[in-house]
Amino acid sequence: MRKVALISPKGSLFGRNEKMKSFVENSKIMESFRYLWSGPNLGLITIAAYMPKEWDIEYIDENYVEIDYTKKYDIVCLSAMTQQAPNAYRIAKKFRDKGTLTVMGGIHATVSPEEAAKNVDVVIVGEGEVLWPRFLRDYLSGDIKRIYKESKQGEYDLKKALIPRYDLLVGYEYPVITLYTTRGCPHDCSFCCASNIYGHKYRRKSNTQIVKELELINSLFPDRLILFADDNMLVKRRECKEMLKAMVDMNLRWIAQTDISIAQDEELLELMVLAGCQWVVIGFESISHRSLRDIEKIYFKLKHQSQYPELIKKIQSYGIGIYGTFIVGLDNDTINVFEFTTDFILQNNLYGVNITVPTPLPGTQLREKLVNEGRVLNGDWGYYTLWDVVIRPRKMSVKQLQDGLLYMYKRINEDFASKERLVYLREAVKIRKKICESYKKREGCEENE
Ligand code: SF4
Repeated sequence: MRKVALISPKGSLFGRNEKMKSFVENSKIMESFRYLWSGPNLGLITIAAYMPKEWDIEYIDENYVEIDYTKKYDIVCLSAMTQQAPNAYRIAKKFRDKGTLTVMGGIHATVSPEEAAKNVDVVIVGEGEVLWPRFLRDYLSGDIKRIYKESKQGEYDLKKALIPRYDLLVGYEYPVITLYTTRGCPHDCSFCCASNIYGHKYRRKSNTQIVKELELINSLFPDRLILFADDNMLVKRRECKEMLKAMVDMNLRWIAQTDISIAQDEELLELMVLAGCQWVVIGFESISHRSLRDIEKIYFKLKHQSQYPELIKKIQSYGIGIYGTFIVGLDNDTINVFEFTTDFILQNNLYGVNITVPTPLPGTQLREKLVNEGRVLNGDWGYYTLWDVVIRPRKMSVKQLQDGLLYMYKRINEDFASKERLVYLREAVKIRKKICESYKKREGCEENE
């Protein structure tokens, strides 16, 4: 029987800046942030589903447990985002020194395959569902290649995807369990590599697959918060509404990443509440018109920007909290950005925030631009946390940007600790309860008719 270790290397949740770290680690406002970014490594449990049932597979998340290097494995497989890459290479070296076969996939290996190939034996460039079975075939026949790559990225039909091995996560106290229902994004924002690696087309699993996956998660982790990790889950409205209807009686609590246009569909909002939605994550990116125009290609967000406050209110009127993500220090941002973005966050009563700085991640157009302009100051991937300034900003200094970020979190934290906010959060729960009760009444009446 083969023994395989699937390892998610340690990552940094709050960046490396000591002042920032010590502040946010003790801060109440970061609770929702921890929920959002402390889920399992979906890529690893996905490829596990493609391995022979009789193999002994161990899932190891270095954020939670220490790796036992005395153990013997036939294959060690690593999956990492850019900021985890140095740790992935460190782990790979220790296993390679013992003669263990090391394989690396995930976002960083996909966008930096040559670099990964210097550090591991085999690199998976693209989607694991397509490439892992190919690698396994070669492994079993003793003819392994250095790099496995899709001929065309973003083409895999997700309707063929197997259910990830969620059973491997049992024992881990993840605050959220993640799943994905779609891949691909047509928006091609300059700071993000989603369109580049998953293609411009939205691809989606079937509702039957999704419901089965949710049932499995719910049976293994009852009452656990579920995070739909899709970049934008609710794009295909008709299919999504059918899915939400199927979720109504499942007693779930979930959150999802989506976009502000859901505010324009009240039927969708009601269904989301009935299906157990607690809050949604929306990438506002910037509330400066010029900055947003600079990072968006097809101006989807820009078109909605002037209506942000009313659209936010509409979503909140259904008791759904909004967790906003923002980038400060973009090329058109002056130091005023810290003040007016904070005002926007507080005035619009956001449920939680993730404010980051422009980061030239490999595979993004932003990286190409900043490298060409000679503005990348730090090449250590360990600092590419989105919270550490690794570039020379255009209209402020590095220090001003790092301090400005801390200033924003401090101001928001003060407000989030207020009594008014507690009242607002309780109110949201009441609204959702009311919507569910009135739906049950309606359903009851229809059944009696
Ligand atoms: S930031 Fe969001 S909308 Fe923009 S390309 Fe990435 S996934 Fe798509």
